[in-house]
Amino acid sequence: LSERLSGVFDRLTKQGALSDEDVKTALREVRVALLEADVSLPVARDFVKKVQEQATGQAVTKSVTPGQQVVKIVHDALVDVLRGDEDPGKLKIDNPPAPILMVGLQGGGKTTTTGKLAKRLKEKEGKKVLMASLDVYRPAAMDQLAVLGVQIGVDTLPIVPGQKPVDIARRAKQQASLGGYDVYMLDTAGRLQIDEVLMQEVEDVRDVVHPRETLLVVDGLTGQVAVEVAEEFDAKIGISGVVLTRMDGDGRGGAALSMRAVTGKPIRFVGLGEKMDAIETFEPDRIAGRILGMGDIVALVEKAQETIEAEQAEKMMRRMAKGQFNMNDLKMQLEQMQQMGGMEGVMGMMPGMAKMSKQVQEAGFDDKVLKRQIALIQSMTKKERANPKLLQASRKKRIAAGAGMDVSDLNKLLKMHRQMGDMMKKMGRMGKGGMLKQAMK
Ligand code: GDP
Ligand code: MG
Repeated sequence: LSERLSGVFDRLTKQGALSDEDVKTALREVRVALLEADVSLPVARDFVKKVQEQATGQAVTKSVTPGQQVVKIVHDALVDVLRGDEDPGKLKIDNPPAPILMVGLQGGGKTTTTGKLAKRLKEKEGKKVLMASLDVYRPAAMDQLAVLGVQIGVDTLPIVPGQKPVDIARRAKQQASLGGYDVYMLDTAGRLQIDEVLMQEVEDVRDVVHPRETLLVVDGLTGQVAVEVAEEFDAKIGISGVVLTRMDGDGRGGAALSMRAVTGKPIRFVGLGEKMDAIETFEPDRIAGRILGMGDIVALVEKAQETIEAEQAEKMMRRMAKGQFNMNDLKMQLEQMQQMGGMEGVMGMMPGMAKMSKQVQEAGFDDKVLKRQIALIQSMTKKERANPKLLQASRKKRIAAGAGMDVSDLNKLLKMHRQMGDMMKKMGRMGKGGMLKQAMK
């Protein structure tokens, strides 16, 4: 997956500009990547469409490399979809005692997450928390929560055999009020699959306690199933957020994207292991990187790009300082400008060059002009490029004709080259002291 993607992006990185075709090719791969990451088909389709629109809009604006641009657009669009609440980790627990209802299928991680969140509330927010197990079907389930409670130092509601979930919920509510608890968490029973009895039971509990938060706990590895579960629970119970567990596994996290896109509910927390500390507030950036399967690709590409630019600039600076600025250098400059979408990009990197940048801009530097100038240089011989002084009338005629332009166009280019050369020599001299070094930073 990541190989496929980076292959495409490598290809893009090598090309000069980002065409519609490039975007389409890249996005075809992105779509496959999303599907492989467990994103549902309609969600992947919509997403790609959205990115396509953004990318074609941005394709002509300045960017460093086309590949980077696509990666960034895809990444940012993912983050955009994934981002839910401003502060997903903030639970609504004002007005004590605040009920939190934990729902989901069996084995999704409800009990574990109940413990993790209780510990967090206690340690991070200094809350007094009561936990109650409503799982009357598996006796071990109640013990499981009690054991966790002892382990993390959080109270659990005493177990009374034979009570129904609704009764336990009532008792928890009462106990929470009497005992001066800030929060009480209800860990409900799950089934292997959604069924009516389960839903009815949870609905009844909901109507008794009126939860401030209803968190759906789903196994992040189950992909598409998790999304269906979320839809179902939201329709019947109404959820205020999702906790994705088992994100420490090698699932791609595509469920997160589908979940957001389909239910519109925020992902609040991510479970990262069996231990009681293994929970984090949901961060869209991380999941986006994971879905793309390229780790922190955006930062990586940016870094690589910075290095290349710095190296090129340094080389050129050194030549400039020696007064060697030939047509090859000019060509490189022009090509860079073309890539970066304008003169400011290149000159802006070098302090003191702003003035020249202005001059050159006044000459009208759009993409067409750049292309024509590069064409002129291309029709020079190697010798001519290395030593522009060779250019006499007959050579000029040949070069201009070769590029399909007039000698006057070539003269303009040569004049610009001379001006830039002079300017750079001056800068080179001044730069020995500090400016040049500064510019290379
Ligand atoms: P419940 O049936 O929904 O209450 O699920 P449990 O809380 O009992 O969890 C089922 C299993 O999944 C247990 O073995 C947990 O230790 C494990 N588990 C829960 N959350 C995570 C997680 O984020 N990562 C990993 N690796 N295991 C988890
Ligand atoms: Mg449980």
